[in-house]
Amino acid sequence: MTTTTDRDDLLVPVPADADLAVRVRGLRKHYGETKACDGVDLDVVRGEVVALLGPNGAGKTTTTEILEGYRHRDGGEVSVLGVDPGKGDRHWRTRLGIVLQSANDLGDLTVEESLRHFAGYYPSPRGIDEVIEAVGLVEKRRTKGFDLSGGQRRRLDVALGIIGSPELLFLDEPTTGFDPEARREFWELIRSLRGLGTTILLTTHYLDEAEVLADRVAVISRGRVIACDVPARLGGRDESLATVSWREGDDPRTERTHEPTRFVQELSARLGGEIPSLAIHRPSLEDVYLSLIGDDHEDAS
Ligand code: ATP
Repeated sequence: MTTTTDRDDLLVPVPADADLAVRVRGLRKHYGETKACDGVDLDVVRGEVVALLGPNGAGKTTTTEILEGYRHRDGGEVSVLGVDPGKGDRHWRTRLGIVLQSANDLGDLTVEESLRHFAGYYPSPRGIDEVIEAVGLVEKRRTKGFDLSGGQRRRLDVALGIIGSPELLFLDEPTTGFDPEARREFWELIRSLRGLGTTILLTTHYLDEAEVLADRVAVISRGRVIACDVPARLGGRDESLATVSWREGDDPRTERTHEPTRFVQELSARLGGEIPSLAIHRPSLEDVYLSLIGDDHEDAS
């Protein structure tokens, strides 16, 4: 679908005067022979939700942990809320909210006690009741961490990530272990945080989550961002051919076209009205993502 020559078209830049919460240029981090970050470039504009997608081992966690100030980099420029994370002080840290992949170990405290404990670290924390309600743990507020289900513990992690009213929230696979209803509720929570102006960098393996939540999606593969755009346009998705499928008698038929509406009108006229088993398929975010990753791995071999 893509070629090495059109690679720059896949990286749509933000406006030059954008107010950036995160700016990364040429980020490098190597572990021996493994190039976990091999020249990552990434911008996150203040107030937007950016989803970081990529296969296992692509470098997402390494990148975000460098942005969070938890890992040192080998090279490149990184600015997070105007500060080099390698030199971030305590005040800078209170402006971040971080939800890591692994759960917090606060098993012997209740939900309420955990939140009260963490709220004490921040200069202007959110109200504890407000946060408990936002993450849907009202009925579990007096339950100890180790008596929560996996999904409920994850909600508590999210609650701890937002208790400090962060300007920038890092969410690393936040809905892993959530049931479908809890995921929908979580999405509402993210939308409301975004509405309050919180900038969010979300790492997820769920393409539907990225599509629903993200203003822009960055695809990372082999330690580099290989595509970055709004979900509807990622990888030229908006310009891709639509596939129209239908049946004529017993025969399944398909046609790939840039003009599915016109094609269907003509087909309907030809068939005299109703078109049997009509379906129109446009590439989903998942189709485009898999194609980008597949092309990048072909380039490598
Ligand atoms: P996943 O989706 O599986 O979480 P990821 O995109 O977050 O993957 P990273 O965890 O950033 O990927 O890992 C990138 C590469 O760096 C992998 O090859 C991994 O094995 C390697 N790596 C990460 N941390 C270390 C470490 N502390 N020591 C050695 N190698 C590491």
